[in-house]
Amino acid sequence: MQGKLLLFCGPSGSGKTTIVHHLLKNNPRLAFSVSATTRPIRANEKDGEDYHFLTVEDFKKKIQAEEFVEWEEVYADRFYGTLKAEIEKIWSANKVAVFDVDVEGGLKIKKIFGDLLLAIFVMPPSVDELRRRLHARNSETADSYQTRISKAEHELTYAFKFDRTIVNDSLEHALEETATTVDEFLKG
Ligand code: 5GP
Repeated sequence: MQGKLLLFCGPSGSGKTTIVHHLLKNNPRLAFSVSATTRPIRANEKDGEDYHFLTVEDFKKKIQAEEFVEWEEVYADRFYGTLKAEIEKIWSANKVAVFDVDVEGGLKIKKIFGDLLLAIFVMPPSVDELRRRLHARNSETADSYQTRISKAEHELTYAFKFDRTIVNDSLEHALEETATTVDEFLKG
């Protein structure tokens, strides 16, 4: 059985993860598609909830076994991928699958699921603000901070390919707009 899907993309630091968490907490019809990754787990994260944390070797085995809908080497040796089993699990529970993935992967997912999916791009108010947020997050080494900024600037140029853009200037406003947009999509 096929259900609906909600896709959230936007640069690291745009606030998309905060928006997605909030949405999931307030809407029991939605379920997060837990991606697999090879990056190290952060202090506030849980294995199996935020990501399935895998070794590079295990990740590559799953690629071979065609267990991914899409996967990307988002940063060098940092693989991220959407598991087919996650979507099947969510749909069989009669829920709507929610993705928080990078732009490249997101556009692949959008192409596969067409009108069943609403693609939302979360936009930071400016690149300066994005720098400030990524700096404040402090989870990155100087190296990966610069990598994330470069990737973020590149990702911003893809916003026009999405169904909706939400500017995260005030979080409260962005949360409200997201909730309304999602409600409309789920009704239709
Ligand atoms: P982070 O390391 O900050 O959690 O995520 C880094 C980037 O990888 C973010 O843009 C995030 O949305 C993206 N990402 C997370 N899961 C997936 C996935 O399954 N596939 C792809 N292509 N990107 C993902």
